[in-house]
Amino acid sequence: MDRDTMKPLVMVVEDETALVTMLRYNLEREGYRVCEATDGEEALTVLAERNPDLVVLDWMLPVLSGIEVCRQIRRKPRTRDLPVIMLTARGEEGDKVRGLNTGADDYMTKPFSLPELLARIKALLRRVQPAQAKGVLQYENIAMDLTAHRVTRNGRNIHLGPTEFRLLQFLLQHPGCVFSREELLNAVWGPDIYVEPRTVDVHIRRLRKALNGEADADIIRTVRAAGYALDVDGGEADLAPAAAM
Ligand code: CA
Repeated sequence: MDRDTMKPLVMVVEDETALVTMLRYNLEREGYRVCEATDGEEALTVLAERNPDLVVLDWMLPVLSGIEVCRQIRRKPRTRDLPVIMLTARGEEGDKVRGLNTGADDYMTKPFSLPELLARIKALLRRVQPAQAKGVLQYENIAMDLTAHRVTRNGRNIHLGPTEFRLLQFLLQHPGCVFSREELLNAVWGPDIYVEPRTVDVHIRRLRKALNGEADADIIRTVRAAGYALDVDGGEADLAPAAAM
């Protein structure tokens, strides 16, 4: 399970089901996990529940266009830096510029070459998370070595249970972002597993206890009525409503 959650999650948003099937097959063969949505609105729902590492986003989608989905991805702090590759049947230069202006990181015109798309996905993931590609996550004085399964704070070894490890891994991947208990449950335990939201509090408490030595500042911020974040300004804080999403 640990090994599995380390695989990058690629989200495919595309209304041509044959194309979705083809992309899923090939992405999984390349070692990615895949989640999908077939219209723009579903894409936003899936984004709220899962935390993909990259999105392959079709431009022409039912309900909500790919451009609009991309705009919303860029608007939310949690997904602001999420890499997006836009797919489109249109090949005009104006559309390309418009797509990139909306916040897409890369752009491919259909029919596209599969090896080229796979290469661009790989390149984009490497560019966005260079440290993670090497298997090391870092925030402030906390370092997580994913290969050795080791956590240190200020050079001091931190011993964590498997759930606390995954919880910290997820928080390290999105430092400064506030996550609700439900979002943490979906990300750490998985969307199909039923766990009491309060369970998150128990594991956050354990994680805090393990991470925070006597001389250390609390690195986990509790945001009343909203959730938790990995943040240098640890402890408890209220959240302005505008920053909640
Ligand atoms: Ca389409």
